[in-house]
Amino acid sequence: MKILTALVIALLTFSSALASTPSARELQFDRDVEPALKKQMTDDLAFIGNVKGEKSTPLHQKIFGKVEGATYSEWFGSRIFSVGKNSCGSANAVACVIPFMDSNKMWVTKNYTQFDHPQIARVSVIFHEARHSEVQNGNWSHATCPRPFQDENGNDIKSIWTGAVLAGQPACDVTPYGSYGSATIFLKNIAMNCQNCTEKVRADADLFGTDQLGRVIDAKAKAAMKADFGTKRSARIRTAQLQ
Ligand SMILES: [Zn+2]
Repeated sequence: MKILTALVIALLTFSSALASTPSARELQFDRDVEPALKKQMTDDLAFIGNVKGEKSTPLHQKIFGKVEGATYSEWFGSRIFSVGKNSCGSANAVACVIPFMDSNKMWVTKNYTQFDHPQIARVSVIFHEARHSEVQNGNWSHATCPRPFQDENGNDIKSIWTGAVLAGQPACDVTPYGSYGSATIFLKNIAMNCQNCTEKVRADADLFGTDQLGRVIDAKAKAAMKADFGTKRSARIRTAQLQ
């Protein structure tokens, strides 16, 4: 009898472990998500679920694990369970998580669909949102960008997604671990360490990664990220892009 009880408990434990395996969950789409958008997002997730890499930076390892498709699928799948459409409370928003409604639901706005951004950039948007699902980390809320917020040439820094001026907007980060920070680390690792990505994917990842690094406004956080990426390897990729 004891053995039988132990076996039943073991079976129960095993089946509940299976039921709660986040990666086994299928991403749910609201009815108003158009078939084309649903297909695009499903294809984007399939693409990132297939990447291969041998190296990853220490910050990437800490946030995501390895540069590897299965790791990314598990990481995203355990954070975002459903997708819907919403204005996200701002004409300049691209996507959002609304914690008081559902921390594991991602909303996309018309800015997500109306601009034609590269595939790896779209993946970085949904990874950015997935980071916001982390209730235990206060959903990694944004920091306010400084005012003025300008590049080294004195030009206003604008959103690469929508062209909106970012000065004074809640669209920056003060830590490498926030949504902008972690998406930057993801993009730079794809650029440097994805072995089966095309040259275009790696170049897109580098370009968008450099842009999103600009959203990290804390000097120490930015320096830690630059050190993590390693200037030598980034320089080599930039040279390769020019060829
Ligand atoms: Zn965000």
